[in-house]
Amino acid sequence: MNKKESSKAHVPTIPELLAPAGNFEKMVTAIHYGADAVYMGGKQFSLRAKAGNFSDQVMKEAVEYAHEHGVKVYITINILAHNRDFADLDQYLLSLRDARVDALIISDPGILLRARKTVPEIPVHLSTQANVTNAQAAKFWFEQGVSRLNLARELSLQEFEEVRAEVSGELEIFVHGAICISYSGRCMLSNYMTGRDANQGACAHPCRYKYKLVEEKRPGEYFPVEEDDRGTYIFNSKDLCLLQGLPELVASGADSLKIEGRMKSIFYVGGVTRIYRAALDFLKELPEEAWKNPAEIKLPEILATEIAKTGTRGGTENFFKQVPGGSEMIYTTTRVDMEVEPVAVIRKEGVAPLVEARNVLETGYSIEYMLPGMECIPVVVQRMETEKGEETVRANPGNRVLLYTDPPLEQGKLNGILRRQKGKS
Ligand code: SF4
Repeated sequence: MNKKESSKAHVPTIPELLAPAGNFEKMVTAIHYGADAVYMGGKQFSLRAKAGNFSDQVMKEAVEYAHEHGVKVYITINILAHNRDFADLDQYLLSLRDARVDALIISDPGILLRARKTVPEIPVHLSTQANVTNAQAAKFWFEQGVSRLNLARELSLQEFEEVRAEVSGELEIFVHGAICISYSGRCMLSNYMTGRDANQGACAHPCRYKYKLVEEKRPGEYFPVEEDDRGTYIFNSKDLCLLQGLPELVASGADSLKIEGRMKSIFYVGGVTRIYRAALDFLKELPEEAWKNPAEIKLPEILATEIAKTGTRGGTENFFKQVPGGSEMIYTTTRVDMEVEPVAVIRKEGVAPLVEARNVLETGYSIEYMLPGMECIPVVVQRMETEKGEETVRANPGNRVLLYTDPPLEQGKLNGILRRQKGKS
């Protein structure tokens, strides 16, 4: 346990950084950019049914890869289960034990009961779907054999500290990513409107849709609910971002900091993991003196600049310091435009690395290599060659090319991401 010390002048333990892995490539990217642990779903029993997820064999390979890199793997089995869901559960749990996963993420008490009986050697983490909002609930779940709680996203820092003071088990908290307008996913909006059940991992995100008003005696007459001529998105929350609150969270004794986004791109996973890793590494180096007042610790400004480039709906601290209000929603659009876009991923290192294009890449483009840490290396694409040795001036998404740049990208590492300013050559 990363327990808070009685004097804040003590250097706190740096918590685990837990990143989403919607598929194998996203897992590799999260590990490349500094995750200590990743979470993923199997083909069954997992929310985020459309995230890609892992077959038994691929999961085994993924766990092996992660362990070789010193990274832990947690498996989500966090649906709210119906009786029919239990038929294949034991077999699935045993396959996870064989794959040597490090923990199960569960929200349903029935699944917890079966997991403790069938695979008691695998630790269980309670999912945020269980909505733990107080110390008594935390004690209850620890008494049920859970080793870690992911607390509800609706807690303030003070409430988190109060829970921390009363329990000794591990506490995990979401620090970044999309949030619901309901208590962490306990929402029937998607089921009602599209038949896709958020509690079974199939949310269609109708909270992000555009809505109009209908008066009951005037069916068919749709009155606009407008902030401007693009309409309004009345339930559309900004994304959680607790980057600036990290010093206080770390000092408060969080054991694990979780990033949301198994459905998101490798660019998001890599970009967000990279910045939180850099922030935690920065905090790790601070002298004891700095921890006397964690609220006064300032992170390097470049971290905020970089996190804004990872693709979000704008940032909110949600309930961290105060109850969120209307300003924490975005009424005008479903997402915020990104100023940068990924162009390629490095597939083989070298003076001219082999890269796989993710967007159109042309000679003459100014691009940046995202180093793990805070820095990027700017380069200009001078020449490209296909794997057959033919020169080309353009690579389309999916194409693999040898990339000759000025200066040469010798520092480019396998699985590193290249990006560029949108709309610039
Ligand atoms: S519709 Fe929105 S609020 Fe409801 S579960 Fe889906 S993402 Fe969450």
